[in-house]
Amino acid sequence: MTINSENKEMAKRPNFIHLQIEQDLEEGKNSGRIHTRFPPEPNGYLHIGHAKSICLNFGIAEKYGGKCNLRFDDTNPAKEETEYVDSIMEDVHWLGFDWGDRLYYASDYFDKLHQFAVDLIKKGKAYVDDQDADTISRQKGTPTRPGFESPCRMRPVEENLRLFEKMTAGDFPDGSHVLRAKIDMASPNMHMRDPIIYRIIKASHHRTGDKWCIYPMYDFAHGQCDYWEGITHSVCTLEFEVHRPLYDWFIDQLMDSDYRPRQIEFARLNLTYTVMSKRRLLELVKEGYVNGWDDPRMPTISGLRRRGYSPESVRNFSERIGVTKVDGMIDVSLLEYSVREHLNKIAKRVMGVLNPLKVVITNYPVGETEELEAINNPEDPLMGTRKVSFSRELYIERDDFMEDPPRKFFRLAPGREVRLRYAYFVTCTEVIKNEKGEITELHCTYDPASRGGNSPDGRKVKATIHWVSAAHAVKAEVRLYDRLFNDENPTGHKDIDFRQFLNPESLTVLKECFIEPSVRKAKPLDHFQFERLGYFNVDYDSTEENLLFNRTVPLRDSWSKFQNGK
Ligand code: ATP
Ligand code: MG
Repeated sequence: MTINSENKEMAKRPNFIHLQIEQDLEEGKNSGRIHTRFPPEPNGYLHIGHAKSICLNFGIAEKYGGKCNLRFDDTNPAKEETEYVDSIMEDVHWLGFDWGDRLYYASDYFDKLHQFAVDLIKKGKAYVDDQDADTISRQKGTPTRPGFESPCRMRPVEENLRLFEKMTAGDFPDGSHVLRAKIDMASPNMHMRDPIIYRIIKASHHRTGDKWCIYPMYDFAHGQCDYWEGITHSVCTLEFEVHRPLYDWFIDQLMDSDYRPRQIEFARLNLTYTVMSKRRLLELVKEGYVNGWDDPRMPTISGLRRRGYSPESVRNFSERIGVTKVDGMIDVSLLEYSVREHLNKIAKRVMGVLNPLKVVITNYPVGETEELEAINNPEDPLMGTRKVSFSRELYIERDDFMEDPPRKFFRLAPGREVRLRYAYFVTCTEVIKNEKGEITELHCTYDPASRGGNSPDGRKVKATIHWVSAAHAVKAEVRLYDRLFNDENPTGHKDIDFRQFLNPESLTVLKECFIEPSVRKAKPLDHFQFERLGYFNVDYDSTEENLLFNRTVPLRDSWSKFQNGK
């Protein structure tokens, strides 16, 4: 199956969130203002799922001439770090979006949230509970059985105020007291059963330092932050649908106008062969299964970037998968397809040999070199041509030769003629082996009349192979990546840990590759297509002396149903 123009058309259609926004615009809500936000918790690096949310939220702002805030939900100092904040900003920018002067932190609102909590206590709508966590959780009931009320629920306002003040002052140890909203212990919605809104965490916060030793719960911060920032459409993933009545309840207590953010939920992105949770990705990093958050095998945005994915391809992918209300699993091949599709348009073609086999052209003059013309990108004539050097000693791909070929193998074999791309027809005349019987070198003759790879007399060859000139090629290390997991749904097995499905062959390092010299001056992240092999990019650690390439994607998908070009 190939992805045809129909899919592209689909991608341009408005999704259900766009339609709801357009309806709000028609009804004149919020005086026509459109304001969204992307609210990551800085407790890890962003992954491709977040990219979907970023594209959606910033995309809405672009589409309707609105604004999109970046807001860090930094309500839990125990798990959050500045390193994550910085990486998140870099990733959003790399995807091509900008929050302008609208960078916020939930911690910007700690004073306001605290004041709001005090107001709730004064109105008799919040109380301090000093039971232990287990007891509180037991009293919560189950989805089918109502909870029962805490003995602390009837504490007088004055006592609650005094206790909350002592919590704030750091007079109590972690976990000893919490502040709870007084809502309804019998509500069919568990989130409404007197949820905890403040807890004691005696940890330094990456922005507020030691000013606070109590921190608001995410649920108590998120909706109010939206409200204070004037967010009109609060787009989030489906699991927050059941939290919506609680967010509404808080806003009802706070309301000083008719305005309120409209929450719209969509299905999170799940990808086959991929783990998509910051917690699990952190485990892979900490336990050394990968080389850091930006390991090119990681589904993090920084990993995809290092691997050579372009921001355009990630955005195209987000468009293509659309936005729905139903949880599902997207084939990772579709992401790889989007990557190939874009790199095909922009990547310069070069020749590179990953598993070199030496070829000597015995009838080519010793010491001579000539320059042959090669096309930089057949998809884009504006990218022009370049010269590649040809000489008597070359490298070809070991796989492109077979001494005793089966019927369907059309590439080089003893006595057989093939075309060297952009160069000449060559015929294999002799196979040289070492004492162990391994092939070390081939001898070939070339036909000088076939210069440029053109047939001199209409005779045909069945294969065209790539090559580099041994004297001119540059040596490079090439890293081939495969899927990190060899199971479609590594976290979907009840009693099997996802680590069991790590693919032992996810990384192959080739130390002795030879690439045409035009790549020598390439900069980190530059893209290339190595002809017949795939798309590659220059790694961050690459230098002119130690060239280092990552394979972004092979030219064809060898794993699944999206077969291109076959
Ligand atoms: P994870 O579950 O991977 O740890 P998270 O939801 O805890 O992610 P947040 O930092 O809270 O991560 O997410 C920021 C925003 O990104 C939220 O609005 C969240 O809904 C959205 N988001 C997270 N994961 C996905 C996903 N897989 N697909 C789409 N949106 C996502
Ligand atoms: Mg979260």
